[in-house]
Amino acid sequence: MGLSSTVDAQQADLLILITCVVRQSAEDKVVGRLTSLKHLKQHRPEAIIIVMGCFVADVPALQHRFPYVDAFLGPSDLQGLFDLAAQHMRQPPSAQKRPVGTERSAISALVPISYGCDHHCTYCIVRLRRGSQQSRLLPEILSDVASWVQRGAREVTLLGQNVDAYGQDLPAGSPDLAHVLHAVHRFDELWRIRFLTSHPGNLSDRLIQAVAQLPKVCSHFELPVQSGDDDILRRMGRRYTVQQYRDLVACLRQRLPDCSIATDVIVGFPGEDESQFQATYNLLSSLRFDAVHIAKYSPRPETPAAVLTDSVPAAEKERRRALLEELQTHIVMANNTTLLGKTVKILVEDRHRGRWRGRTVTNKHVFFEHGGDWQGQLATVRITWAGPWSLRGEPVENSRAPTGTNKDETTSKESLAEGLQDS
Ligand code: SAH
Repeated sequence: MGLSSTVDAQQADLLILITCVVRQSAEDKVVGRLTSLKHLKQHRPEAIIIVMGCFVADVPALQHRFPYVDAFLGPSDLQGLFDLAAQHMRQPPSAQKRPVGTERSAISALVPISYGCDHHCTYCIVRLRRGSQQSRLLPEILSDVASWVQRGAREVTLLGQNVDAYGQDLPAGSPDLAHVLHAVHRFDELWRIRFLTSHPGNLSDRLIQAVAQLPKVCSHFELPVQSGDDDILRRMGRRYTVQQYRDLVACLRQRLPDCSIATDVIVGFPGEDESQFQATYNLLSSLRFDAVHIAKYSPRPETPAAVLTDSVPAAEKERRRALLEELQTHIVMANNTTLLGKTVKILVEDRHRGRWRGRTVTNKHVFFEHGGDWQGQLATVRITWAGPWSLRGEPVENSRAPTGTNKDETTSKESLAEGLQDS
């Protein structure tokens, strides 16, 4: 729109607060930030404050509570945002069409391919705030990917609450995610394609086959399990059993031996007892995920679970979270240690604290020091240091062309297993 950004809220003419309320802690942050903006508005009444996202539900109630906010917009209401910004800005907005999505870095773009959600997980507020699933049409997605590529992106991550359910809300015969991956794969300038989040109940054979077939598609799955106990899973409304989840992971690892799998877990769901928590602990220790995002359950307004007694005390939730975190840190540390001395291929995204930073196909962060300009390049890096959250190394070569390299990383499950036996 011809506007420029500032890192200092005090300087901004237009402030857009994009909000998440998936957990109470996220909502608390929103309220904290909004409260601090009151002060800013008092001193600079001409500054425009817009609040967007899942925090926005009952607008009249919000207007009453935060009268200094100029406008509230629901999730993904980009048109509303542009209209409002145009109305408030002195200069007319430029006509340039901006692609949908956002930049992770100059060379990695996040592109939503569906909005909303058709699942009914009893703890989750997402569907209540974002509505049922609405898949975007393939030509729109491709046009956005084309724009991002034109702006220099070498990687896109296709986003959806259940990205693997893409297309199920469209008429019969419409594209599915496998189809989208094939279509996005055709962009020559694009080197890597990722997608998240996958729901275990929607992950199809066709998708696994597409990931196996298409060299640019990263064999990385974000596959939330949420709990290792069948009774909890049933009460969460997840619609799969622990065994079905285990079978799916076994199938992925068998068909894509180099794949990495990350998961989400909630501890302290109402009624979760010690043995049910232990079941989650055991699941994590046997499946040895590449990453686990652990959340302490918090009741969300109007969700089915909100009427249940939030029976696990805060200190106990924290104990369970810390135990899983400790377990997972050991697992990741052991996995990462096996990479010492080996080479990995990373797509270099940017510089961070004096080092180049990129990610492996399997989503591991790798840092290295070098004087050249590596941004946007695929670099082969020999790992010299391994920590639980990142790796460090030295470049051994670089290639501007991808040469179909995404599937040849040294982190195959076999090599990880061998490394573990050796140690
Ligand atoms: N659609 C994805 C992700 C949804 S939100 C899915 O398959 O669930 C991201 C994560 O937040 C979830 O995976 C879940 O682990 C966590 N989460 C959602 N609601 C929560 C709640 N009420 N309390 C704690 N964690 C929650």
